[in-house]
Amino acid sequence: PLVMMYRGRFAPSPTGSLHFGSLVAALGSWLFARAAGGAWIVRMEDLDREREVAGAAADILATLAAFGLDSDEPVIQQSHRSDLYATALDRLAAASHAYRCWCSRSDLEPFGGIHPRACVAHETSRPPAWRVRVHGETIGFDDAIQGAQTQHLGREVGDFVVWRADAGCAYQLAVVVDDAAQGITDVVRGADLLDSTPRQILLQRLLGLSQPTYAHLPLALGEDRRKLSKHEAALPVEATDPLPALRAALRFLGQPVSDARHHAALLSHAVCEFDARRIPRVSIAPTPFAALRKETC
Ligand code: GLU
Repeated sequence: PLVMMYRGRFAPSPTGSLHFGSLVAALGSWLFARAAGGAWIVRMEDLDREREVAGAAADILATLAAFGLDSDEPVIQQSHRSDLYATALDRLAAASHAYRCWCSRSDLEPFGGIHPRACVAHETSRPPAWRVRVHGETIGFDDAIQGAQTQHLGREVGDFVVWRADAGCAYQLAVVVDDAAQGITDVVRGADLLDSTPRQILLQRLLGLSQPTYAHLPLALGEDRRKLSKHEAALPVEATDPLPALRAALRFLGQPVSDARHHAALLSHAVCEFDARRIPRVSIAPTPFAALRKETC
């Protein structure tokens, strides 16, 4: 039988320096890939020009390298791949899975933000967005960390945008095209993307692409249990001092932390000991680095 080699990825958006939350996603996906003897690929998701911070992409890659987390293949940038995404949109449109839409956010407010399937706004000379038609699909998948998931796309999401009027390909379509083009077998990422996964599975089905397996990592929350904001761990991790942040990230993922004095030794130990069943499901506040710095493991 044909055994597909494990191919995992880390797909940061260049909206700032690598912080603890993104380090957890990088390390988590890297550990899964290395423990499976597979490849780990970094992809720069730079389609959102408004949120992009100049220099952040290079900064993220330099920090990953300083932490010993290097992409096994050249890093691709989504901003260079518009043709590929446009081809996917053409295929969706040709099969009537996608349609042009001029509705604005405020047009959809009376419908709780869910597109009513018959456009509210009329065609204008402005460029349209493109939406994918959602039928009564309930999409289920078995997440390797979070367990069985289901989402009723029609009720919970509605027809969704795959091409933005002013800004080109939307995240949901680009990620599906790239995961397939790069032969990704396993997606390991933060649980903030759990509710995007059914949309991505629908797009894979409509485009005839194979479905990777999914594992959604717990999120690092601030003390107030909101997603990290001004909390210490939302600050950029220090590229010059990888050990404290790597220790904190391993601990956050429920993995044993060795007393290695060099990050490369810490990582190779972590790969040998890696057990995905120890990763907690629930998003929590990480132990502050300062506490971990003093600790002898
Ligand atoms: N670029 C996305 C982010 O930084 C992650 C996409 C993904 O892992 O699917 O939130």
